[in-house]
Amino acid sequence: MNKKITGIHHVTAIALDAQKNLDFYTGVLGLRLVKITVNFDDPTTYHFYYGDRLGSPGTILTFFAWAGIRPGRQGTGQAKSVAFSIPESSLGFWIERLLKAGIEYQKPVRRFNEQVLAFRDHDGLMLELIAHQGAEKREGWTGGDVPAEHVLRGIHTVRLCLDGYEHTAKLLTETMKFHKAGEEGSIFRYAAGEGGSGAMVDLNCAPDLWSGVVAAGTIHHVAFRTANDEQQQSWHDEIASVGLNVTPQLDRQYFRSIYFREPGGVLFEIATDRPGFTVDETEEELGTRLKLPSWFEPSREDIERALPALRLPREVKTRAVAIDGSGMEAGE
Ligand code: ZN
Repeated sequence: MNKKITGIHHVTAIALDAQKNLDFYTGVLGLRLVKITVNFDDPTTYHFYYGDRLGSPGTILTFFAWAGIRPGRQGTGQAKSVAFSIPESSLGFWIERLLKAGIEYQKPVRRFNEQVLAFRDHDGLMLELIAHQGAEKREGWTGGDVPAEHVLRGIHTVRLCLDGYEHTAKLLTETMKFHKAGEEGSIFRYAAGEGGSGAMVDLNCAPDLWSGVVAAGTIHHVAFRTANDEQQQSWHDEIASVGLNVTPQLDRQYFRSIYFREPGGVLFEIATDRPGFTVDETEEELGTRLKLPSWFEPSREDIERALPALRLPREVKTRAVAIDGSGMEAGE
């Protein structure tokens, strides 16, 4: 079967404080909150999805907000950082914006001939903005308070931190049909499909680093895109055939998923492009209230009671009020 991984679908990380997470990613970074739901495997915690206007695959960063979770430790066997695309002319704007928000950043460095601005969120998660040619061709969310020309344009790369890279590289190239796209120092870059921003994974070898602990401030898993259920089933069979345990298809409401651990220890997911976030809300309503899959609806009251109250970003509230005059304003 002619199946394809077309790029990164989403990255999921762990946050300690739901409110701080919401304020940082919608406020400072200006991403659109496209869905408020719960972790389907643990409905007492929020699951937030941030992205572009529709939460298109390739723009999505998601968080489980696990109150009380211990801090994670960055190390091997873990996705280390997620990078977003920005236009080359936006680097100065972002340095100034981080400075104003009191966020420490590292002096920009060049990687694969592009400028990389690195900083951390309040839980210590490492984020990067990569200024590169062609970024302006990708869509970003222009409904926040970041000027349209400077908004983030989706995920650029995900960097994995590994003891060694060979087995992961073999899985990427021989099974998942990535190709090698570059090498710089201890970073080996692989790209899916046509490559470019949104389709690249960097394998960062760090043999003398301790192993990572996935908890607050770390990435939980990296998801790759495939078009539909049929292709996903074929990926499932192929991944099982190379000796990796892979889950059966799980319904994530906004896409369907299979999960497996790559040989370096990082949890991978392959997710379908459809149905997307407008399956249970209109484009206008995205991210304005708690959405639950049908199997949790009967327990909505209990679930809402267990979740911390949220103060939604002003922009989200304005949209919610415009729709039905109420909106989700728990906590106020
Ligand atoms: Zn996922």
